[in-house]
Amino acid sequence: MPRDYYEVLGVARDASQEEIKRAYRRLAKKYHPHVYKGDKSEADRRFREVAEAYEVLSDPEKRSQYDRFGHAGPSQGFDFGPADFRRARETFAESFGASAFDEIFNLFFTDGMQGRTRTRQGRARPGEDLEYRIRVSLEDAAFGANVKATVPRFVRCDDCGGSGAEADSGVETCATCKGTGQVQYRRMSMLGSFVNVRPCPECQGTGEVVARPCRKCRGGGRVKERSEITITIPKGIENGARLRLRGQGNAGVAGGPTGDLFIVVEIQPHPVFRRHGADLEVEVPVSYATLVLGGEIRVPTLEGEEKLKVPPGTTLDEQLKVPGSGLPQGTRRGDLRVRLSLIVPKRISRRQRELLRELAATLKE
Ligand SMILES: [Zn+2]
Ligand SMILES: [Zn+2]
Repeated sequence: MPRDYYEVLGVARDASQEEIKRAYRRLAKKYHPHVYKGDKSEADRRFREVAEAYEVLSDPEKRSQYDRFGHAGPSQGFDFGPADFRRARETFAESFGASAFDEIFNLFFTDGMQGRTRTRQGRARPGEDLEYRIRVSLEDAAFGANVKATVPRFVRCDDCGGSGAEADSGVETCATCKGTGQVQYRRMSMLGSFVNVRPCPECQGTGEVVARPCRKCRGGGRVKERSEITITIPKGIENGARLRLRGQGNAGVAGGPTGDLFIVVEIQPHPVFRRHGADLEVEVPVSYATLVLGGEIRVPTLEGEEKLKVPPGTTLDEQLKVPGSGLPQGTRRGDLRVRLSLIVPKRISRRQRELLRELAATLKE
């Protein structure tokens, strides 16, 4: 069980942020492995403990979680992310300067990385693939359409042409990760403490930083945008189909290649038709007389209307078809399945009543 964080920092449970900060600075200085007179591994252990306590107690949200749940915190645990990194670094830099922090940061967050080598790949990094869902009507899915969509994504920065650097600015090795592009974070959860390797927050995993970053994109070479794009829906597309638009995903970092955009097509339910693969189904109400005597009915189709013969003596569970009025599939089209339902009028005329009574009497025999 880790020691109580308040105890580690030697502050009261109701200590102010200022007191916590002061305690962290004092202890970080004391246990700095370059300064500590005693056992180096002891210094290292104490230093980590202090950093961990500060990480949690300096963040009001994490602190209140810790106050409520203690070390056996919520399952997601405490997460040491880029914002924490920046806060810890800033606090430390105020007292000892940024380079001192980086030295220590490397010491206690990247040990265990020793022996791990990473090929330098330069700053360029490919952009991420994106997925975007669109809803289309059954008609558009059947016959194909061009659909406009607004997709949030990174696009190449115009100001620096994607390089991320101001004109004539060079590239330097990232001081935070020493060019490895990775840093280690400790993560606590109910199950204990884990070590996570993450892309370096300073150089975004590239291992290099530009000496003078582009002001518009802050060195990334790409900016966020809501891009209006036109998506061509091929005719006969299935519900849930994924379309791949090459080179339409996020722009790469520092001029790296652009990712792909995957469009997931969701076909909206239709008020009239139901879909069964390439076949469509429609319900058409008919009278009892039409079922018994047969007749011609009008059936709605995607394009308009078709006439359909109902043979004499048709029952409700017989399914009729308008061939070729379903959805396109390759060069052919599916069928339109017609499900008949019976019209039972709530109100009828006196004459209709008489006729039905007569009919009923004959049907009894
Ligand atoms: Zn730029
Ligand atoms: Zn870095």
